[in-house]
Amino acid sequence: MTKMYLGVLKMAETFDVVVIGSGPGGYYAAIRCAQKGATVAVVEKAEIGGTCLNRGCIPSKALLASAEVLLQAKNAGTMGIDVAGVSPNWAKMQQRKEAIVGGFRKGLTGLLQANKVKVFAGTATVTSPKTVVVESAEIIISKGIIIATGSVPVEIPAFPFNGQIIISSTEALSLQAVPRSMVVIGGGIIGCELACVYAAVGTKVTIVEALERIINTEDKWVSQVLERELKKLGIDILTNQKVTSVNVAGDTAKITLQSGQALEAEKVLVAVGRKATCDKQTIDKLGLQMNGAALKVNEKMQTNVAGVYAIGDAVGTTYLAHGGFAEAEVAAENVLGGNAKIADYSLIPRAVYTFPEIASVGKTEDGCAKEGIEVIVGRGFFKANGRSVAHNETTGEIRVIRDKATDKILGVAMVGAGVTELAAGARLLIGSSEKFHDVSFPHPTVSEVLKEAWEDAFGMSVHQPPRAADRR
Ligand code: FAD
Repeated sequence: MTKMYLGVLKMAETFDVVVIGSGPGGYYAAIRCAQKGATVAVVEKAEIGGTCLNRGCIPSKALLASAEVLLQAKNAGTMGIDVAGVSPNWAKMQQRKEAIVGGFRKGLTGLLQANKVKVFAGTATVTSPKTVVVESAEIIISKGIIIATGSVPVEIPAFPFNGQIIISSTEALSLQAVPRSMVVIGGGIIGCELACVYAAVGTKVTIVEALERIINTEDKWVSQVLERELKKLGIDILTNQKVTSVNVAGDTAKITLQSGQALEAEKVLVAVGRKATCDKQTIDKLGLQMNGAALKVNEKMQTNVAGVYAIGDAVGTTYLAHGGFAEAEVAAENVLGGNAKIADYSLIPRAVYTFPEIASVGKTEDGCAKEGIEVIVGRGFFKANGRSVAHNETTGEIRVIRDKATDKILGVAMVGAGVTELAAGARLLIGSSEKFHDVSFPHPTVSEVLKEAWEDAFGMSVHQPPRAADRR
């Protein structure tokens, strides 16, 4: 466990605000409250930084970055660079990942200290809207409590995690050696990202997805591009298939699908989602209303108990770190007497760090069709972009969705190298109408694919042949 600033409570101590959990939701809310002049305590039962820093966003991206360099080195010949003897060094990849995580943990601990946020190590139980108990000590709260207790991986009861062969993303991020084979149950974000890491370093990966396509939260074309590219990496993808049993014998698992098909693998990664979590005693003591496993909150991030707020994965909304940041912003404002409301959740960008990456924001084409909104879709292509061609990264496209009736941009979907970096820019387009003449995109940059798609949504792309007359 990280060495942290440990408050030793001999007697009850009073703070304006107590935040439970130090993940993206918790630490962000704590620092914001401190910036607004409140005295703040954070209680954390494990490592500072929560899932995101220790078992999620950061370690997964560190491994993906190493895997990407490996793939680039293997393909260096196409760029005119001869490289011999390229191979992954898994132990060093792991060390690098640990060093990155450790560095950020230290940085975050320092940041909390610098903001005079006191961190208590231990499990917090809320005993009343004005008291939190940490182990045997007590904290008194004058203004409010923010619960940011996060989530845990969903387990399949028929074949629970055993930490060795049937594993969750937590173990998958820290395997001692590269497995020869891995079956990934679940073709969602976490499953697909980890499939990319392991396929790149030489594991034979098979994704088994119960639905008809992987990354089913995005439009069908997005899934199709990703599926095609993952197959090129050597990943087998079985859709419309459910795993019915996993039997472990020695160091191998035998996996049976509903269709009767049998697979064998050294590791079975169960990546079928995450489940909000909150200490049961806290729920019972306060009489908190629930929404399944998640804490029920209103748009002000208030629970049903006055002065008690909840944010992040614990409220089961976005299951994204930056979703937690957005909710933390609202809770921090309100716990100190403000009246903030969470913005439209569809304006929180979605990002998948696969090879190639996926990013989107706002409405999808499918979503618009379901709502009966008539749209015009502008398209921009990486294969027509100078920078992308120079980098030999020509896969993918960007689509900008325009409301035909109002001219407003409703959504943007992107698949291609580095598109997650364009997501915040794409967000700024949502709700705007034709303004692209005013915005200069540097040339040549990958961002010009977004400009092409934006212009094309208005039938005004300079670099594409004219489209049908009804586009305007
Ligand atoms: P958490 O980060 O889970 O933090 C909750 C904290 O509360 C934990 O540290 C826990 O120990 C503590 N806690 C719980 N109960 C108590 C208690 N009673 N007392 C004291 N402490 C308690 N999201 C993204 O946006 N981008 C990504 O690229 C991304 N990649 C991911 C990759 C993986 C493999 C995984 C698993 C997740 C990923 N996520 C990503 C999701 C992201 O990690 C979560 O959405 C985010 O961590 C949620 O933040 P949180 O603050 O709500 O909870």
